[in-house]
Amino acid sequence: MDFRAKWSQRIKSLPPYLFARIDEKKREAMAKGMDIINLGIGDPDTPTLPPIVEAARIALGRPEHHQYPSYEGMLSFRESIAHWYKKRFLVDLDPHTEVLGLIGSKEGIGHMPLAFIDPGDTVLVPEPGYPVYHAGTLFAGGETYYMPILESNGFLPDLSAIPDSVYRRTKIMFINYPNNPTGAVAPDSFFAEVIEKATKYGFIVAHDAAYSEIYFDGNAPKSFLSFPGAKEVGIEFHSLSKTFNMTGWRVGFAVGNASVLAGLGKIKSNMDSGIFQALQEASIAAMALPDFWMENLRSMYQERRDVLVSGLRTAGLRVIPPGASFYLWAGIPAGMKSEEASLALLSRTGIVATPGNGFGISGEGYVRFALTVDTPRLKEAIDRIVNEGLFTPKN
Ligand SMILES: *Cc1c(COP(=O)(O)O)cnc(C)c1O
Repeated sequence: MDFRAKWSQRIKSLPPYLFARIDEKKREAMAKGMDIINLGIGDPDTPTLPPIVEAARIALGRPEHHQYPSYEGMLSFRESIAHWYKKRFLVDLDPHTEVLGLIGSKEGIGHMPLAFIDPGDTVLVPEPGYPVYHAGTLFAGGETYYMPILESNGFLPDLSAIPDSVYRRTKIMFINYPNNPTGAVAPDSFFAEVIEKATKYGFIVAHDAAYSEIYFDGNAPKSFLSFPGAKEVGIEFHSLSKTFNMTGWRVGFAVGNASVLAGLGKIKSNMDSGIFQALQEASIAAMALPDFWMENLRSMYQERRDVLVSGLRTAGLRVIPPGASFYLWAGIPAGMKSEEASLALLSRTGIVATPGNGFGISGEGYVRFALTVDTPRLKEAIDRIVNEGLFTPKN
């Protein structure tokens, strides 16, 4: 039997998967034996840092880690997070009530609306943006109100453009800096404005800081929680995935307002059973790594960023250099559509890059390139684009 007709309304209402055509073309190109350079996915290409793997190896051999973990995470794991927060952001956290382990931050972001949203409640979601904010809202029966983040406004939502009536039915606002897909970093004034609105209208701020450690030129982004009043109104999501090359391990955490975390914890204690403890031990080792490990990773991404920014400019794209994250958000020539640009890149140069409109309608006119291949391959990618003249005016 085919039960697709019986899929729930919440599944049927998911937005169409805009990368399907690109995926299909990629498979076709690979089947033809084309040499693909994949700048499409945001998944680090270098392995998990070796001390973390070693800590996991040791922890795996300890039988006490083979049983059910607690849903919120071992106290020692939560303490290591609180310690890291103090060192990195000068933010104080109570590891008992203000830290919650997550099976990857996607898990927490996706579950968050279930803890707070009833049918008819509104969630503010940045657009273009990470698709999980809307999916979680939809699954909880809430209504997404999209906040466009436009280049003309530094890729920040215009908070003064959101009507009072919308703010009054809002329960959660998602924000994400350093930003995926644009690579933008938010100024202090933005966080202060967010806290002011949240305090005035009584909604929760959920700041997704998955890229806080992948920054350039020594400019370390601040934590949302380092601003006065932030802990009164919100939480921050973090992930070990991008920071330590641990996407496959599924470890993340949320920190901040204790009552928000208790709500999310209620959902989690009924839906999952926490992070495998051996991985929590490895994560403790990750949080305690000396800075040079991260500095090495950052300089690797920075070299790639510099190569790709100047190369893509030579190729005729309008590149907005990212302050952080491992993405380049590039404006394509006027008159060209995002999907057309991605399809042309794929079929004529074998380069996979993500069409900007896949992240939301305001992403139309852009293509996202991930810095997740090495420098020689990036140079090869640039040569191919320049040689094809894909983005240079025809005359
Ligand atoms: C990668 C990513 C995440 C999720 O990472 P996890 O692996 O689930 O921890 C969250 N937010 C954004 C914006 C991301 O790009």
